[in-house]
Amino acid sequence: VTRREAGLRIDAPRLLARLAQLGAVGADAHGGRTRLALSAEDQAARDLVASWLREAGADVRVDAIGNLYGVLDGAQAGPPIMTGSHIDTVRRAGAYDGCYGVVAGIEVLDALRRRGRPRRAVAVAAFTNEEGVRFAPDLLGSRVVAGHIPLEEALALEADDGARVGDELRRIGYAGTLAPTAFLPAAFVELHIEQGPVLDAEGVAVGVVEAVQGHAWWRIAIEGTANHAGTTPMTLRRDAGAAAMGLAGRLVERARADGVPQVATVGTLSLEPNAINVVPGRAVFTVDLRDPRDAMLERAEALLQEGLRDVERQGFRVAAERISHHAAVTFDPALCALIESGARELQLSSRRMNSGASHDAQMLAARCPTAMIFVPSLRGISHNPKEHTEPAALAQGAELLAHTLLRLVDGGSHGIAGL
Ligand SMILES: [Zn+2]
Repeated sequence: VTRREAGLRIDAPRLLARLAQLGAVGADAHGGRTRLALSAEDQAARDLVASWLREAGADVRVDAIGNLYGVLDGAQAGPPIMTGSHIDTVRRAGAYDGCYGVVAGIEVLDALRRRGRPRRAVAVAAFTNEEGVRFAPDLLGSRVVAGHIPLEEALALEADDGARVGDELRRIGYAGTLAPTAFLPAAFVELHIEQGPVLDAEGVAVGVVEAVQGHAWWRIAIEGTANHAGTTPMTLRRDAGAAAMGLAGRLVERARADGVPQVATVGTLSLEPNAINVVPGRAVFTVDLRDPRDAMLERAEALLQEGLRDVERQGFRVAAERISHHAAVTFDPALCALIESGARELQLSSRRMNSGASHDAQMLAARCPTAMIFVPSLRGISHNPKEHTEPAALAQGAELLAHTLLRLVDGGSHGIAGL
């Protein structure tokens, strides 16, 4: 099957031009852009996306948590096939994270409309506050859709500057009236840059994302005794720094021994009094554990706690707190298989993979068959102005999204439960 026969025609030059145009909203002088959720920059980006959705023939709707939708009715009644992502950013962000999935989704919707009325309705979503930089928690819009946080609670969330989500939505004109569950989709496919180095390193065109790994974040304080570094014999000191570094080293080594895909990171470590000639009396550090297999993540956490008990037995006081935890999310196997067969038909190399980062799709997965498509990120750089994906790779990912959505809107089930 040739690409022309199998696919929908995507306007690749327009896709790239729109990514550049959206990337210019909130741009700074150093190649980055900052569009924190519900800021004036977010408002301008939303206005732009809404105009493109209208141009593509979609009905533009906003729900009560500010999620922006473009909907194309289908011949059959029923929930839409949905794609989308987010257009808020971190500080000094790249141009592709989130925006790629939304802009490519608009291209696909436009291509589907030009082909004639689809059997099933199609929707493109831009979810509110995915990044969680201004308002915690992250994935806020999709979290409300999934029912993981009540709408009222989400609207009352406050930023560091005292602004509330509900007030800010009204201020920028995106406090919609629709229930956040109004467009609960029949299936959801999110297209995103990988934000990691695997596809780029292996020279593979697309990733079929089977799961989002779970994570557990811990903050640990170890209390020993500060003392003179010259006069206190090794056998008589309670060195909180040495205890923390020993434990951190063992955690990282253990993850390495467990092998891919587990990762363990000690990203912060502070010692008191933090002086060259004083035995540390106190050490505070964080541990970030991630694994797509819940059982392996639990095991890693159990080993951490065992290590903490060892430290206590050596005479230290230990305070440990789990500050965040997400279970792993597994995507729909039949939808993954559909994406994979689409890649084959389009003659794109593909591999199965897990997502190391969080995405709106993991929230939607609780409500409908869901999967993701990744395209390569040059050297895996993301959340950085240097974030880059080759134009040809961006076009290929959009073609695969179009191919997948075309099959999903045709009325068949493709072995996907509930479709
Ligand atoms: Zn993203």
